[in-house]
Amino acid sequence: LLGQMMSMPLLISSLIQHAARHAGDTEIVSKRCEGDLHRSTWAEVELRSRQLAQALARLGLTAGERVGTLAWNGHRHLEIYYGTSGSGLVCHTINPRLFPEQIAWIANDAQDQALCLDLSFLPLVEKIAPQLKTVRHFILMTDRAHMPAESSLPGLLCYEDLLAAEDGHYTWPLMDEDTASTLCYTSGTTGHPKGAVYSHRSSVLHAFGAALPDAMACTRRDVILPVVPMFHVNAWGLPYSTALVGAKVVFPGPHLDGKSLYELFEQEQVTFSAGVPTVWLGLLNYVGSQGLKFSSFKRTVIGGSACPPAMLATLMDVYGVEVIHAWGMTELSPLGTLSRLSSKHLSLPPEQQRHLLEKQGKSIYGIDMTVIDDARRELPWDGRSAGNLVVRGPWVIASYFGHEESPLIPVTGRDGRDAGLWFPTGDVATIDEDGFMQITDRSKDVIKSGGEWISSIELENIAMAHPAVHEAAVIAVAHPKWDERPLLVVVTKPGATVSRDDILKFYEGKIAKWQVPDDVAFVNEIPHTATGKMLKLKLREQFRDHVLP
Ligand code: ADP
Repeated sequence: LLGQMMSMPLLISSLIQHAARHAGDTEIVSKRCEGDLHRSTWAEVELRSRQLAQALARLGLTAGERVGTLAWNGHRHLEIYYGTSGSGLVCHTINPRLFPEQIAWIANDAQDQALCLDLSFLPLVEKIAPQLKTVRHFILMTDRAHMPAESSLPGLLCYEDLLAAEDGHYTWPLMDEDTASTLCYTSGTTGHPKGAVYSHRSSVLHAFGAALPDAMACTRRDVILPVVPMFHVNAWGLPYSTALVGAKVVFPGPHLDGKSLYELFEQEQVTFSAGVPTVWLGLLNYVGSQGLKFSSFKRTVIGGSACPPAMLATLMDVYGVEVIHAWGMTELSPLGTLSRLSSKHLSLPPEQQRHLLEKQGKSIYGIDMTVIDDARRELPWDGRSAGNLVVRGPWVIASYFGHEESPLIPVTGRDGRDAGLWFPTGDVATIDEDGFMQITDRSKDVIKSGGEWISSIELENIAMAHPAVHEAAVIAVAHPKWDERPLLVVVTKPGATVSRDDILKFYEGKIAKWQVPDDVAFVNEIPHTATGKMLKLKLREQFRDHVLP
């Protein structure tokens, strides 16, 4: 017997149509490269997305072709998200912080037919254009008044002119919900990046999951400012979840420094935000140094790398901002787990509740996860057994763009039975009795000392709680007796002084003695990847010959 309900494919266009019809006058506010603060609404964004779909069709783009973007968070980027995917094209967001050669490599690998770019990226694209093999149209995301007098880009098009030439009389096409909607490349710290192709179905389901109360808890009463860029795994799905609930959205454009963010938070009365730990470092430094408070900011998702407990404590205890620690990855669209308490935890003492919130959290519906040993057998959920974290679900990757081989691996359940195919995340984690997952390390970053594993994240978290420490990374350094030992690399806060011994003393009583780092190296800066993660590969090279005392 088949169900007898309406058969409606889960399409990305349904999100923007919903927002336009049911939250049409809700605002979309954007700081733009032109320097202004632009105000529009979900209804306008939907109309302009339709005009864009018409314009792209007029340029000869056909279903399935990729449209690249090099752009900050803003209303035009949002229109491109919907105008491309909604019309059957594939929205391919590229991270402009990558090296120019990597950007060209990715655009070629994706075979982008058109490239939409913000004003800030014109010099970059002019430089790499000769290497771009497939791009037929360059579209500058600005109006006529801001078009350059001349550019080396062939036939450079003006975004606003393209839209102005269309009437918007366009019906979003029906298509199979498994049609490709979006393409995102992994950061590829080793080897070439690989593309994850999301479908309409996976994106809409992810948007539902992300908006749930125990996930990001997005509501139509929220004012949501995604600090996480739209070129970093679709700003964690917020451009979709905000449409799904009809929230007001505030886009920061290129201005991600503490002062600019704070002013925008206050001016637009932002209630909810999301970003990687490094951006919160900047914002907290600014707010702290100026003695400011937030008047509307209530909660934030922090993920992409481990949120140091000291940062969580500052936001929660000093500023009254609820922190939702989250874990995910490009291959998961990206949400996997978020840390929120169950009712049975509410009676726990505050320190124990805090300890749970510091973990990466629990699965949301749509993601199943477990930890396995090297023989791919499921490990117990006891909060101690660390193993490789594997996941599966309708928004988890099954294969990479242009690669035939499957990344999935077979897993044996605790009962010895075949547990099916799972995606290996490359993260090492524990899961406790209540299903709270905690990442101990990226498998390549784990420190193997005398046959035991030391978690670099745990050591970093302790250092980050020291009042003189701005940022801390722990890496493995070769050791003749123990194979590897931990080295702590530290950036101190401006004006702060602290000695090696002071910092090492700070570890006393917080961790087993044999896990305490052997040495501390002070540096001016820790290198970061294009998505704000500490680039440990580079640090390991830098300190390869470091002699431990
Ligand atoms: P991107 O951040 O661009 O999605 P990746 O997909 O390569 O880049 O990054 C995913 C990886 O980031 C995860 O596999 C994990 O190692 C790390 N990560 C993400 N969130 C967290 C977190 N909350 N704590 C620790 N590590 C995290």
